[in-house]
Amino acid sequence: MNIHEYQGKEILNSFGVRIQRGIVAQTAQEAVNAAKELTEQTGTGWHVIKAQVHAGGRGKGGGVKLAKNLKEVEEIAGNIIGMNLVTPQTSAEGKKVHQVLVAEDVYYPGDNEPEEYYMSVLLNRSTGRNMIMYSTEGGMDIETVAEETPHLIFTEEIDPSVGLLGFQARRIAFNLGLSGTAFKEMTKFVSALYTAFEKSDSSLFEINPVLKTSDDKIMAVDAKVTLDDNALFRHKDYAEMRDIREENPTEVEAKKVGLNYVALDGNVGCMVNGAGLAMATMDLIKQAGGEPANFLDVGGTADAKRVEEAFRLILKDDKVEAILVNIFGGIVRCDRVAQGIVDAYKNMGDAINVPIIVRLQGTNADVAKKLIDDSGLGVHSAVQFQEAADKVQEVLS
Ligand code: GDP
Ligand code: MN
Repeated sequence: MNIHEYQGKEILNSFGVRIQRGIVAQTAQEAVNAAKELTEQTGTGWHVIKAQVHAGGRGKGGGVKLAKNLKEVEEIAGNIIGMNLVTPQTSAEGKKVHQVLVAEDVYYPGDNEPEEYYMSVLLNRSTGRNMIMYSTEGGMDIETVAEETPHLIFTEEIDPSVGLLGFQARRIAFNLGLSGTAFKEMTKFVSALYTAFEKSDSSLFEINPVLKTSDDKIMAVDAKVTLDDNALFRHKDYAEMRDIREENPTEVEAKKVGLNYVALDGNVGCMVNGAGLAMATMDLIKQAGGEPANFLDVGGTADAKRVEEAFRLILKDDKVEAILVNIFGGIVRCDRVAQGIVDAYKNMGDAINVPIIVRLQGTNADVAKKLIDDSGLGVHSAVQFQEAADKVQEVLS
């Protein structure tokens, strides 16, 4: 589950990770009040106004702006709240901004220049260990750093039986070129950050930038936090941080009825049982010259009710020009599924307005094909994988 920057910072702060302080606001007036309160708490006169949406690259899209007085706070917050923010990580339509974080300006001048670093904590699946990935090149997107200057990205792997060790935190501070106060601050920052990662059952922390202020404090200026859905039962307070306005409405609906659905950009809807077969089906669609409109795993019980729910979800996407149903009847018999499809189709009346290609393979596949062919509905049947691909191609052209 993804959460907003301000929520991620709340979690970090609760584990003693130093953060750029801020207060979230829903309106321009609330933003002004937040700025006044922050000035009292921190002494800052300047504030950054940051759009709160589940997407990175907000700065590039005009979603992060510096305000030098309360009038600017009001103006900027007023402009950002309600805008459709387009960033390199959103679709072309962008994401609607419902709230902003009013934060203290932490790039104030002083003895040293402020410096930005990159730091993330995540699981390295090939070694089965958590790792801290970090770089001197903060503030820019890490994919570019990885491409152009890969030697500037460092990693530190953590042995789960002993946790992050002191020398590892010091190595990180050293590799970032720090000394004196900043060095000590960084080791504290890294230790607290790793504790936060483990205790919050997160699957990703991405802090870009981590800032060294002009007076050598180390803090998180940004926070992308992804929580592990499977551990949310242990964190009722985190579960409440879910903001479904940020999620795809069809995916939210699918979750409610227990279907595994992920929206994609293509024109061929897929209904498949089993995640592996679903992936293979998406490849098949590509080979046939189409693009998958979704990933949908209907699971083991493909009865009429579930099939109907699945059809309805797929058809909510108006880019869908055809639907490919690919079911392997192992535990569930193909003729049962075929009957389910026929029933669902009849039940839905005119709601199905695109051609459907059904490929059933496994137990009673021949009976199933006959059932569909004899139904008199606008459904094309296939038994072989290639046959199904050819039919997809045929209906698309
Ligand atoms: P992102 O663009 O979505 O990654 O949002 P960030 O939270 O990383 O902010 C983008 C950029 O805004 C940062 O890289 C900083 O350069 C800048 N920024 C953030 N906070 C401050 C601040 O307090 N003062 C100033 N002057 N710039 C800031
Ligand atoms: Mn950032």
